[in-house]
Amino acid sequence: MLVDLHNHTKLCNHAVGEVDEYIEAAIKKGIKYFGFSDHAPMDFDPKYRMSFEQMSLYENWVKEAKEKYSKNIEILLAYEVDYLANHMDERVLKSDIDYLIGSVHFLNDWGFDNPEFIGRYAQKDIDEIWVEYFSNIEAMAKSALFDIVGHIDLIKVFKFLPKKLNINDLVTAPLKAIKESDMTLEINMSGLRKPIAQPYPSKEILTKAKELNIDITFGSDAHDPTQVGLFAKEIVDMAKSVGYKRCVYYKNRKKEYLNF
Ligand SMILES: [Zn+2]
Ligand SMILES: [Zn+2]
Repeated sequence: MLVDLHNHTKLCNHAVGEVDEYIEAAIKKGIKYFGFSDHAPMDFDPKYRMSFEQMSLYENWVKEAKEKYSKNIEILLAYEVDYLANHMDERVLKSDIDYLIGSVHFLNDWGFDNPEFIGRYAQKDIDEIWVEYFSNIEAMAKSALFDIVGHIDLIKVFKFLPKKLNINDLVTAPLKAIKESDMTLEINMSGLRKPIAQPYPSKEILTKAKELNIDITFGSDAHDPTQVGLFAKEIVDMAKSVGYKRCVYYKNRKKEYLNF
């Protein structure tokens, strides 16, 4: 895996390890473009993210590492931003970074991927939950605020799958919106560490993305240096198996292509 654009730092309060340890792990795995995309600050759910005051500290850590390791690896600076109506902040959206990952981790106030709140799945119709999730993904893509779609089918994390609806149908409109916004779909390996035990997206969704010629990239979504590049072979093989030959990284919010 040459490109890994989704990685966290301890500033988000739920990751461990030093910036240098993530980078040294990436170099060992043969990664050439390694992006930090820590959880951006937001005036909601502050416990699981850096504060606005810490943005400059975070950006300095990454910029210093970029210099320090410039001979061995290219380090990129980014944020993973929660797409949540009324909580979008210009300080993040206008920040001077290489790219922004747009992710949906909340349905209204419900952090559906957090095991602390897993009980809420039993309180609502599962098909409705899936519809609501993908309408958020579609709105996120249509907002055109972000470069990369984070873990597009994260809603499968705990293996609560739709009962009546077909996932392929649910993703059709979101994928079209992603294509129209010229966004990149990440293949995120963190799902392989979760109850669903699959990458995000599934191979079925990735096949549909390929039919639409949507660009892809790769992400460890590491919250620990030991997670960098874990399952890299699995996700690169999956991308190749559906016909992908190139992936994307971003510099100053501009797409660059790399064959893999
Ligand atoms: Zn996280
Ligand atoms: Zn995420």
